[in-house]
Amino acid sequence: MRAYLKSLAMAAPALMLGLAACGNTPSVSSEPAKPAAATFPLGSAAVNAERLIAADSEPGSWLTTGRNYGEDRFSPLDQINDTNVAGLGLAWYADIDTERGQESTPVVVDGVMYLTTAWSMLKAYDIHTGALLWAYDPKVDRKKGADACCDVVNRGVAAWNGKIYLGALDGRLIALDGKTGKEVWSVQTTDTTLPYTITGVPRIVKGKVVIGNGGAEYRVRGYVTAYDSETGKQLWRWWTIPGDPSKPFEQPELADAAKTWNGDNYWKIGGGGTVWDGMAYDAELDLLYVGTGNGNPWNQKIRSPGGGDNLYLSSIVALDPNTGAYKWHYQTTPGETWDYTATQPIMVADLNYKEGKRRVVMQAPKNGFFYVLDAKTGKLISAEKFAPITWATHVDMATGRPVEIPEARYEVTGKPAIVAPAALGMHNWHPMAFSPETGLVYLPVTVSSATYASPEKFELNLDGWNTGITFTAGPSVTPVAAGGAAPKTEAYLLAWDPIAQKEVWRVPNVDTRGATGVMVTSGNLVFSGNHAGEFVAYDARTGAKLWSAPTQAKVVAAPATFLVDGQQQVAILVGARGLPIGQKRTVPVSANNSRILVYRMGGKAMLPAEMPTTTATGEKVTVKIDPPLLTANNETVASGEGLFGQNCAVCHGATAVPAAGSIAPDLRYSALLASRGQWNGAVRDGDRAQRGMPGFKASLTEEQTDAILAYVIKRANDEKAAQEAAAKTP
Ligand code: CA
Repeated sequence: MRAYLKSLAMAAPALMLGLAACGNTPSVSSEPAKPAAATFPLGSAAVNAERLIAADSEPGSWLTTGRNYGEDRFSPLDQINDTNVAGLGLAWYADIDTERGQESTPVVVDGVMYLTTAWSMLKAYDIHTGALLWAYDPKVDRKKGADACCDVVNRGVAAWNGKIYLGALDGRLIALDGKTGKEVWSVQTTDTTLPYTITGVPRIVKGKVVIGNGGAEYRVRGYVTAYDSETGKQLWRWWTIPGDPSKPFEQPELADAAKTWNGDNYWKIGGGGTVWDGMAYDAELDLLYVGTGNGNPWNQKIRSPGGGDNLYLSSIVALDPNTGAYKWHYQTTPGETWDYTATQPIMVADLNYKEGKRRVVMQAPKNGFFYVLDAKTGKLISAEKFAPITWATHVDMATGRPVEIPEARYEVTGKPAIVAPAALGMHNWHPMAFSPETGLVYLPVTVSSATYASPEKFELNLDGWNTGITFTAGPSVTPVAAGGAAPKTEAYLLAWDPIAQKEVWRVPNVDTRGATGVMVTSGNLVFSGNHAGEFVAYDARTGAKLWSAPTQAKVVAAPATFLVDGQQQVAILVGARGLPIGQKRTVPVSANNSRILVYRMGGKAMLPAEMPTTTATGEKVTVKIDPPLLTANNETVASGEGLFGQNCAVCHGATAVPAAGSIAPDLRYSALLASRGQWNGAVRDGDRAQRGMPGFKASLTEEQTDAILAYVIKRANDEKAAQEAAAKTP
């Protein structure tokens, strides 16, 4: 059965290749596609249109983060399969020298694995040995972290014509030499006076590097831009929403879009609609699909008083990749007011309906509906709830519009409402996967609800978020539960039949909630991690757990699989906020045990059970703990200890050591210790309030926060001394 299915899977790309040869592919070499990655020298990054279009016939590589242009994250490899996966073991691992969220899927091409980490840093490993070939740090100003709504993450790179392309958090698009990591060119894609960020992956279509950005929690207007892959010259830009009405529309369709907006707030504040993650390309139709984000501010009454659809927020939009011209759109959440983005991963696939095969675009955005659209026209084929939402009952197939539950529109009723999902959505950026062999989509679901309410007065915040929402009903107000009782908070891996639009199986995350990216293979395996610290292989048809390995870290990213000298391997980047419950820190250079883990059949490598004191080559491990010298007296430190216990310990841990699984950072490693000004900014003035660290100006005197600082510096020096002593012990 498997062999039969596989031969079908191999036939399709050959047809596509034939079509592509007739297409307009100007900046591509005329060489025929090479069937195997090993044909090119190490680090060639010799990716071109033929290889990308025929990615399914080159299963030894993982050419783009989504694996192919359709981004189905399905690997035709089946050496590791449901009969032998029990023998899968660790081949090698490498410690990652950043912490925070690690969201990147590796790109593996011509013998090299290219991986991004937090702070837009990039590493290139030799897949044969695990040796680090080069590393690149764009040296993003750490102050830029204040503009990142959801951590200083990066989801990966693109490879093309010898170069590797990286979007940096500060809005730069950077091209690097694939062999050396040397910068070839760099362009600023954003207005640096505005809180734009890049966390998403560049896509490359016919020599054009396409990149979006984020920032719609702050005050920006969304767009997506294409640059020349060789020079960095801007080729086209598509704005997702209309701008200042006193100026001409940048694109003809914005004239119609402007009729769906009201008032002046939206363009003055930004309006949102950022293209921060999902994109896919269909080489047959020559269409680029992009997902657009939420409104800015979220609250529609403030953003567009009187309502309106607010095109093209929360939409899947098809563009001509040659010119950036608009082709069609489907808006998932007209007039969105809950942060219901449609930037989630987009997949292009052929679905075998009873009536025949259909080319479709699929998305499971935050709002909880699974959408199947006709790839050529954007016509809605079907939409069903994949999670228990309470903002809408269903999608009306005659109009293609959601039928809302009126109570959910808190900004219209004036009554605070509990609505499911909350702003993080029933599905967020975490990659999903589609297997043409099982016909199923595998997606990580997070069920949530939250209270949404309009503020009494909206004031523009130039330094932080502008949601236009208060997340509590207010004193003595009971919020309305839209659509009945809110669903219980839970998370699960869901196998979904996109034709029948129904669930086939689910694996609940019982102990620890949170989503993790997914990959599926021709070995009838779904690979995904979890927040309990495991990397797991499930039976793609039944969801049965067939194999797992400890990761010592939370996993949010998605895996990749590829061949090394003909042998299948699987890689996953691990590390997220905090450690799994009960897990010790074992990575000297990262408090959340960030690592790249690579598996092969019979792999015998082991992760260290304790913090290592020497490296594999016998050198002493140097831990990145670098506190300033303690200058305060004992009395101050003792006072600080008491104040820390009363004010800080509940999140940052008794004795300044966070509990396992805590999401609060280990302050002993904080760079703030070296700067009283920055310490006061965070601790007194609330600079990090949007990231969960409130300011204590109202309750603590400056003398008291100075004493707490002295205590934490003391604890950091204690830890530094302990680590140095441990490193000296033979
Ligand atoms: Ca958002």
